[in-house]
Amino acid sequence: MSDPIYLDYNATTPLDPRVLDVMLPYFTQVYGNAASNDHAFGLEAKRAVDKAREQIAALINARPDEIIFTSGATESDNIAILGIAEKYAHKGNHIITCVTEHKAVLDVCHKLERDGNRHGKFEITYLPVDQFGLVDPEAVRQAVTPQTILISIMAANNEIGTIAPIAEIGAIAAEYDLFFHTDAAQAGGHIALDVQTMNIHMLSLSAHKMYGPKGIGVLYRRRSNPRVQLEPVIYGGGHERGLRSGTLNVPAIVGFGEAARLAKKEMVAEDEKFRAWTQQMYRQLVDELGDVHLNGHPTQRLPHNLNVSIPGIKARALIPQLKDVAIATGSACTSAEVKPSHVIQALGFGDGRAHSALRISVGRLNTNAQIKQAGKSLISAVQQLRVI
Ligand SMILES: *Cc1c(COP(=O)(O)O)cnc(C)c1O
Repeated sequence: MSDPIYLDYNATTPLDPRVLDVMLPYFTQVYGNAASNDHAFGLEAKRAVDKAREQIAALINARPDEIIFTSGATESDNIAILGIAEKYAHKGNHIITCVTEHKAVLDVCHKLERDGNRHGKFEITYLPVDQFGLVDPEAVRQAVTPQTILISIMAANNEIGTIAPIAEIGAIAAEYDLFFHTDAAQAGGHIALDVQTMNIHMLSLSAHKMYGPKGIGVLYRRRSNPRVQLEPVIYGGGHERGLRSGTLNVPAIVGFGEAARLAKKEMVAEDEKFRAWTQQMYRQLVDELGDVHLNGHPTQRLPHNLNVSIPGIKARALIPQLKDVAIATGSACTSAEVKPSHVIQALGFGDGRAHSALRISVGRLNTNAQIKQAGKSLISAVQQLRVI
């Protein structure tokens, strides 16, 4: 049997072979420590890192010196939220976030709420979302108190693909002089992001969600208007402006830079192709199966994401029937537990809808033929279950 068709690009993307080509010399030839600037080995590594910093900064309209390399979006989210909570506790102890955030944001907020830091405990507002997974910017405004120091709202949701009104929320943050962090692990390299026009002060990215290597991420941290100061989470050699000590992973950083360059260049054309595929698959499912619910927003969504619930069909029962297609139930990050997805539950349709949710996400290595085949397989698996 051939490999199943991979339709789980929201969980991780394959490394683009063009990215691998650019990375390879940095394993065995340019192996210097980017912080060792006494010799050519180190200097060449540093030049490569600087170039990647520029490429990633260009993707989000930031300055290269505002890019902090981390191990991934999880770490970036931790540094952003914990770093603000530590540095600005004298100004207040209230953070506004949203119920559909990734666990990398929610669990940090829970920690600050439960245990606090050395300044005391924090109060967290978890804003609800509407039936499409959208958070209302007016609700953000109404949640602001004199104690609020930070708003953290994700740019695009990893399960249902809903794109948040980031620019509107950024405008509110600017109006009230609050810091605004956005987890853009899913949005980065897929939709246009501009930290200037969107008033974003911190932004988390992950290379492996945009055809770069795993284990490398970025925290964008604004350095002026306003200058964001963060208390580090990791201490050591003072790398990355003291915000993230540890020897830089040069090959991965170089790969992330190239992935960002390719995404900037190819994003618009790619989006069009992916949107056509997800819409085609959705229509195919509705035509053949009738009752199919789309989870997430009909238009304000990541083009490569489709999330559907088929009434009466439990995702956990369907997946074993689907031998030639790799898709996800709920969020990959919580699939170790058999809890229904907190994101689908937040849409307010009840547990059944959450237990039925299927996340189908397409990407660069898929073909027209694969999309057609995957749709057929999915339909026949559902029809088999309906007979049982
Ligand atoms: C994947 C993902 C993360 C975690 O990123 P890692 O780089 O794997 O740590 C965080 N937030 C969102 C929205 C994600 O999709």
